[in-house]
Amino acid sequence: MRAVVIGAGLSGLAAALRLRRLGLTVTVCDNGERPGGKMNRWRAADFCLDTGPTLLTMPEVLRRLFHDLGEPLEQHLEIRRLDPHAEYVFPDGSRLAVPASWEEWLKEIASFAPADVQGLRRLHEVGRRIYLVSRETFFRNHPLAASRSPSWSTLRQLPLRYAWGNYARVVARLLRNERLRRVYLRYPTYVGSSPYLTPATLLVIPFLEHHTGVWFVQGGMYRIVESLVGWAGHSGVQLRLGEQVVGIEHERARVRAVRLASGARLQTEVIVYTGDSASLPLLLGEPIRTRPATRSLSGLVVLLGFERKVAELHRHTVFFSEDYREEFEDLFSRRRFPRDPTVYVHAPAESECAPAGGQALYLMANAPADPAACWDEQSVREAVDRIFARLERSGLAGLKQRAAVAEVWHPGRMAARFLAPGGAIYGDNSHGWRRAFLRPPNRARWPRGLYCAGGSYHPGGGIPMVLLSAEIVARLVQQDFQA
Ligand SMILES: Cc1cc2nc3c(=O)[nH]c(=O)nc-3n(C[C@H](O)[C@H](O)[C@H](O)COP(=O)(O)OP(=O)(O)OC[C@H]3O[C@@H](n4cnc5c(N)ncnc54)[C@H](O)[C@@H]3O)c2cc1C
Repeated sequence: MRAVVIGAGLSGLAAALRLRRLGLTVTVCDNGERPGGKMNRWRAADFCLDTGPTLLTMPEVLRRLFHDLGEPLEQHLEIRRLDPHAEYVFPDGSRLAVPASWEEWLKEIASFAPADVQGLRRLHEVGRRIYLVSRETFFRNHPLAASRSPSWSTLRQLPLRYAWGNYARVVARLLRNERLRRVYLRYPTYVGSSPYLTPATLLVIPFLEHHTGVWFVQGGMYRIVESLVGWAGHSGVQLRLGEQVVGIEHERARVRAVRLASGARLQTEVIVYTGDSASLPLLLGEPIRTRPATRSLSGLVVLLGFERKVAELHRHTVFFSEDYREEFEDLFSRRRFPRDPTVYVHAPAESECAPAGGQALYLMANAPADPAACWDEQSVREAVDRIFARLERSGLAGLKQRAAVAEVWHPGRMAARFLAPGGAIYGDNSHGWRRAFLRPPNRARWPRGLYCAGGSYHPGGGIPMVLLSAEIVARLVQQDFQA
């Protein structure tokens, strides 16, 4: 039996390897010239940086992929737990580092904001309960696999006093300290959403950070892609790069073939689509229907290489804007790049990232994913300048002037490279509990033989979730075709 996987990002590579292991003949097509999709790498002169994900959570999901393929992860990759998880820099210059240990974090809060210790425990408990419910149901199953998933009405009865409220309001109710609130308000952006519009069930994200840790891959996340591509080569998965799929052919409600932009046609019984959910109708000959209000965030990433070290930084540092609520008004209501963006700075310490004595820095700010936006040279320059301005105000000055090499990924570039309307990183956002937890399913309702994985689909975006989607798809194919 044959399978064509559309997309050589993390979910596509994982799905391809799992299907190959089930005995299918697998071809992976990606419009990009390099595999990895959003998990990719930039090299310039002697500098090297990841361009997409920089932190890994729930490492057991990645471990399980390697285990299921037949070799332990440690044989291929070195992954390390990070402590502290991150440092937060507030507009007044004060700083707060979040230690890896939950107990240490509580101790820190006992001296920093003693009135919030109890509230913090409650937030953690809500996250823990959501996690326990999700672990064996939501995270591991196709959303319509009713036999093992509790129904939504059951979930709504859970004794979770705060879980179904609005995320930001629950945080405000349980925490009094403004800076601590800020730290917790940032988590919904991990799934491209606003803390002011998501349900408090997303408290599972900070819970998971403390429960399973924040990890990184020694040498960069792209090592994961390199391992999987190497494995694909050994196991006979065919990788066709620079090949865009422009159509899915079906006959009597079953998939038959994919059509490539080059004019080639690949016959197949199984198709796994891993691109943006908004672009799938186009492949089926239907009109694209993207509503800007439902798109998740995009990002503006600035990659910089310096001949000399410019700053002593933790691996992950977040420089907060002056007015967080206003920033999200810009992002989601006004749909424009924030006047004052919060900036995440990733400063890898590995020697392969920069020449001796130098430094490589990755700066990222959230940006709106508006399919109608025009990211011309001037708007990109203005947005990048706002990132530098925020860093200067927070004490990290002179980066622009001192950079020897630079590269910018803006929403327009992401939209074109990943075929994702507006450059949205996670398909649709998680605003409202339906969009947060009823993401598009992994088995298309029509035509038969079409499956969907990746950040747009169930269970969601981010490294562990897209790997889980690939697991679910492989299981569905096995069930449906007795593969
Ligand atoms: C800047 C940035 C920072 C991030 N940070 C983190 C982080 O720290 N931690 C974390 O866990 N996650 C992070 N993420 C999210 C994470 O990278 C993604 O959720 C994950 O890599 C998505 O993998 P995927 O396989 O679903 O999709 P993708 O990586 O988008 O792969 C899909 C591929 O399919 C291709 N494709 C689409 N349509 C077609 C077609 N018709 N024909 C051929 N090819 C097609 C696309 O071009 C793409 O290459 C980040 C993402 C970005 C962009």
